[in-house]
Amino acid sequence: MSSAIKCDVLIAGAGPAGLATALYLLRAHPELKGRVVAIEKAQHPRAKTCAGGLIPKTMLALKELGLELEVPFIEVMRGTARTEVGEVEMFRGDPLCTVIRRDLFDARLARAAKDAGLEIIDQCRVSEVEQAGGSVRVRTQRATFETPVLVGADGSGSRVRASVCGSAKDSIGRALMLDIPVDPERTREFAEQRYRFDFTCVAAGVNGYAWSFPCLIDNRPHLNVGIYEQHPPHHGSSAKSPLPDRLREAFPELHLDRFETLPMSFKAFPIRWFNPRNRYAIDRVMLAGDATDSLEQLQALRADAIGPDPKVHVATLETIMAHCAQHATVYLPSHDPESAARLAGAVQAADSVPAS
Ligand SMILES: Cc1cc2nc3c(=O)[nH]c(=O)nc-3n(C[C@H](O)[C@H](O)[C@H](O)COP(=O)(O)OP(=O)(O)OC[C@H]3O[C@@H](n4cnc5c(N)ncnc54)[C@H](O)[C@@H]3O)c2cc1C
Repeated sequence: MSSAIKCDVLIAGAGPAGLATALYLLRAHPELKGRVVAIEKAQHPRAKTCAGGLIPKTMLALKELGLELEVPFIEVMRGTARTEVGEVEMFRGDPLCTVIRRDLFDARLARAAKDAGLEIIDQCRVSEVEQAGGSVRVRTQRATFETPVLVGADGSGSRVRASVCGSAKDSIGRALMLDIPVDPERTREFAEQRYRFDFTCVAAGVNGYAWSFPCLIDNRPHLNVGIYEQHPPHHGSSAKSPLPDRLREAFPELHLDRFETLPMSFKAFPIRWFNPRNRYAIDRVMLAGDATDSLEQLQALRADAIGPDPKVHVATLETIMAHCAQHATVYLPSHDPESAARLAGAVQAADSVPAS
């Protein structure tokens, strides 16, 4: 057997999930400084298809880690959600979202993690993972690594997941996005520090939403627009994707047709969502990243795997449950695969109750 590079904790993938794992781990166990290694197939700053909206929970995590943002950002103070039955306005006086560019943000996290004692090996792609005799061997094109604990944080198309859990394709959604330069004086998103969501695609059969976020690219104002679909019905088929048309319909004033002829203007990407039936930890390998809560988590008042502060998370769940006790509420976690079936069941049950 060839000799392997050994470390105490190995992290596959230096995106936000892998880097946050390292930052929290090294904060809790500074004695691991220099003994935690991340292997990353690219090199920061690297491109990542993402709208770059940091939710308040992420800002809280940065604060908790003592990290300044240090990259250009736009604070969003207002929101609009358009649906078939009307528009909802969001404003609460503090930022709803902080929009950054992922290449710069991830590079900033990588610098912080290195300062905290993480070793990052760039341009090193995981190809295979094997567990045997109380350790994990990770093969890459450059070297083999041996570790007692592996964190698979290598994104939506995770090699670690495929090696350890097999490659389930039933919980992969897809997204399409585009950055367009705009005049900030004549664009609502800039003039009003607003992001916009549009759910009218649901009625047209797309189980998702479109968005428009203000952002800065090379310090120039842009809109990041895109559309997400949780259950692509066309997966594996040659049928034309409905996403470009639904995106154009959501924001007609942007004349998105203009951008279709430009090479590389639209970017498409798969998104893996949390499915409680999937496995996220097997023996000495755990997966980190796009996991989020389900209705069961909410009802049990249980913090999820990605909440930076379990106490804040549980307090939030209690507030939601108190609200639900007083108001008729429909809760549809966008990453919960059971949502649609549960809503259909609830509607049928309500229909069958005789009117008094
Ligand atoms: C179009 C779109 C818009 C989005 N908008 C938002 C948003 O506004 N706000 C938000 O919070 N989330 C958004 N998301 C989701 C967000 O991008 C992901 O949840 C997030 O990037 C997940 O982080 P991660 O660290 O798990 O994975 P990634 O960010 O994908 O990082 C994985 C890392 O692993 C590396 N890697 C991959 N394969 C290997 C391998 N074999 N070996 C070694 N390294 C490997 C990659 O190079 C990468 O650096 C969006 C996603 C999409 C597609």
